[in-house]
Amino acid sequence: MKALIHENVALALLTTFGIGGPARYFIDAPDEQTVLEAIHGAKEKDLPIFVLGGGSNLLVADAGFPGLVVRIGIRGVEWASANGKTIVDAGAGEEWDRLVASSVERNLSGIECLSGIPGSVGGTPVQNVGAYGQEISEVLVSVRAYDRSADRIVELSHDECGFTYRTSVFNTTAKDRYAVLHVIYALTNNGNPAIRYPELQREFEGKTANPTLAEVRDAVRRIRGRKAMLLVEGDPDCRSAGSFFKNPMVTEEKFADLQSIAGPNVPRYPASGGKVKTAAAWLIEHAGFSKGYSVGPVGLSTKHTLALVNKGGATAADVVRLARQIRSGVRDRFGIELVPEPVLLGFENGSGGL
Ligand SMILES: Cc1cc2nc3c(=O)[nH]c(=O)nc-3n(C[C@H](O)[C@H](O)[C@H](O)COP(=O)(O)OP(=O)(O)OC[C@H]3O[C@@H](n4cnc5c(N)ncnc54)[C@H](O)[C@@H]3O)c2cc1C
Repeated sequence: MKALIHENVALALLTTFGIGGPARYFIDAPDEQTVLEAIHGAKEKDLPIFVLGGGSNLLVADAGFPGLVVRIGIRGVEWASANGKTIVDAGAGEEWDRLVASSVERNLSGIECLSGIPGSVGGTPVQNVGAYGQEISEVLVSVRAYDRSADRIVELSHDECGFTYRTSVFNTTAKDRYAVLHVIYALTNNGNPAIRYPELQREFEGKTANPTLAEVRDAVRRIRGRKAMLLVEGDPDCRSAGSFFKNPMVTEEKFADLQSIAGPNVPRYPASGGKVKTAAAWLIEHAGFSKGYSVGPVGLSTKHTLALVNKGGATAADVVRLARQIRSGVRDRFGIELVPEPVLLGFENGSGGL
């Protein structure tokens, strides 16, 4: 049966923020053919196109989106053995956390620390999702995608995806060029869980000497639950897009400047490219915005400084207003420019002034 194009579909209901106006046109695409046909149709009509996954990293403008939203619903997961690894080929519309759960059940390591991240498989390469010491780039082999510019299906290798911290070609140089159809990962059979992150290490201190993958998955979900970084039905702190700002990556020189203002306790983590990573949450708190800080219907989560939360009835304009206030507070206090992590859709000039 041919998939239906719907008109004026409320996007707020399709995002974890629960904010935003309607899509002028909307289609649920359960297979590759539908994705291609929908995008061809929109191109012919000169309509802007947006490819939607689980809506967990998205702030939609109050005016909505004046083009076609294609929600990728391609399902199916195949497991195969190659060179001592398990190759997992997952449809972009699969729910990410279900794939993590299935992998852990099969005793496959590589993504256990990425437990509890909302959204779709197709969303994972876009910002190179990462948490608790793992990043998708460590296990991703390739991406099958529809190249909207060349009008053909392509296979992008790991290197062609251009991964760095929260970045890939999909959200930088080739933004809006690809619709991800399948993602292929290589996981390690009977591998040990990665327990690199101090917060995760602390979960096992004095308890379990050699935690299993399942125990690590549970621990990650427990930690995430405490910070409202796990979607829990009915918890108002979960109405967010996760972290609203990326952790800043600065040069050694800039970090030294920061230390001279903020003192020696400012967090410092190793990062690639000779840069230093510091913690956006720490900067926000020390710029005077503590957990639960609110302006009207939008506030910082009561459990995590980095999440901006829709406390009920918030608009995108409310979110942007608070985000701007926080950005300028951090800039004035520390001279660091925070960069938003979620994708902003339907805003004039693309960024909503952020
Ligand atoms: C409570 C909470 C916790 C979170 N924790 C983390 C975390 O720990 N680490 C982390 O990295 N992120 C985290 N996130 C952010 C988010 O869950 C991830 O970035 C997720 O991978 C987004 O996937 P999605 O399918 O929801 O994408 P969407 O929100 O639907 O889209 C986000 C971007 O990806 C693009 N996109 C999505 N699917 C496709 C596709 N098939 N083809 C092409 N482009 C596509 C969209 O066009 C858009 O640009 C969190 C979010 C929430 C709400």
